[in-house]
Amino acid sequence: MVNHSMMHGREVDTVDAILAQNKAMAQQLSAMNKKLEKLEVSAIGAQSPPFHTCGICGGPHESNICSIIQDIHTSAE
Ligand SMILES: [Zn+2]
Repeated sequence: MVNHSMMHGREVDTVDAILAQNKAMAQQLSAMNKKLEKLEVSAIGAQSPPFHTCGICGGPHESNICSIIQDIHTSAE
């Protein structure tokens, strides 16, 4: 009986320790995820101003300065 309760007490301590570790790891992971999200957002935000993808030809420029549209305009006028 004494041995059993001691073992039970140890098991509970071990479970508590594992749960505490898991909680700490989960907090670290969520903190890392938040940092990664910020990094991704800032990386996208830094890239988006100079990098435009044309919706007409898919080229590395804005749709309104697409050379295809300019060609149409110059040939029409
Ligand atoms: Zn284009």
